[in-house]
Amino acid sequence: MRTYRCACENMLFIDNSVCLRCGKETGFCPGCRAVVALLPQPEGGWRCGNPACGVALVKCANYQQHSVCNRCVSAADAATLADDVLCDCCCFNQTIPDLTVPHYAEKWYRLESAKRRLFYDLDLLGLPYRLDESDPRPKLRFDFKADVITHCLMRHMGAVERVYTGHANGLITINILEADDAERERLRVHLGEAHRTLIGHFRHEIAHYFWEILVLGRDEEEFRKVFGNHENPTYQDALAAYYKNGAPAGWQERFVSAYASMHPWEDFAETFATYLDMVSVLDTAHQVDFTRTPPRLGDFDAMVTQYKALGIGMNEINRSMGLLDLVPEVLVEPVREKMRYVHNLIAANSTITPVEPQNQ
Ligand SMILES: [Zn+2]
Ligand SMILES: [Zn+2]
Ligand SMILES: [Zn+2]
Ligand SMILES: [Zn+2]
Repeated sequence: MRTYRCACENMLFIDNSVCLRCGKETGFCPGCRAVVALLPQPEGGWRCGNPACGVALVKCANYQQHSVCNRCVSAADAATLADDVLCDCCCFNQTIPDLTVPHYAEKWYRLESAKRRLFYDLDLLGLPYRLDESDPRPKLRFDFKADVITHCLMRHMGAVERVYTGHANGLITINILEADDAERERLRVHLGEAHRTLIGHFRHEIAHYFWEILVLGRDEEEFRKVFGNHENPTYQDALAAYYKNGAPAGWQERFVSAYASMHPWEDFAETFATYLDMVSVLDTAHQVDFTRTPPRLGDFDAMVTQYKALGIGMNEINRSMGLLDLVPEVLVEPVREKMRYVHNLIAANSTITPVEPQNQ
């Protein structure tokens, strides 16, 4: 994750909506693709505070009205949009939480923050998720929903309509309870997971989306060779068996997580999410000067070697603060080969050429 500079030279981070040094409002400018100081204009609206850019900007409606976003839209683009002007991240939302419920706005903020980080990583890799209208493949959308509890006071009974975090046909649904720290940690311990985070949910669910648009009907033969047959047993049978019997003994020798052993689709999603973890950690480590060279996005083995070295160090730093390991996964050979498949799939579908390292 990149860091940015305010007009006053203070460092800014991806979520900043105000500079803590000079007090200027800040936001993401789509013109120079950076978090910048926003300069208010006498006629209303804003101008990008990066002198090399200076684009006229309008705040995203979710920034303006709800403070859950910090992105802007160029004023020229905004003029062509009807009603609410939504930025290039918020425009994927199909359902947002009910903001009349206390604390749901805070939860929504956390979800949007994680979603912006997800999109940053997808853009870094050139993964195609902004499909043209003419593209027949499913369009990406998000539902951020809460369980619905209906009370029948007369009968002292209630019913709960559960929202399940998941992906179907381009629609990623996240139960906003996952944005509640106490609840998410309770689930993590209950399910015996090494990590449970919002960004982790986004990385897992987007993997199912990319399976659908990049593998389905395009690369299924190769996929089968690496992850196994996704059609037999069926997903429903595999799910039932997993919840009945749990993960097979010795799953650590073949899978990146216990859940990955459930079905090839979940194996792919867990592996893909781990790949995104790796890319994100390596990129951030470089951006904050932990590592001198940028991640070698075109060289899978180089990335794994660097990730392992960094992971050992970061785990020890986290332990010195009593925190969970940053990189809990052990990338055994079969897991590495599955990650290599993900790497090659992304490279084959990337809209950009990976940045090759300099001076190597
Ligand atoms: Zn500043
Ligand atoms: Zn700009
Ligand atoms: Zn927005
Ligand atoms: Zn899944």
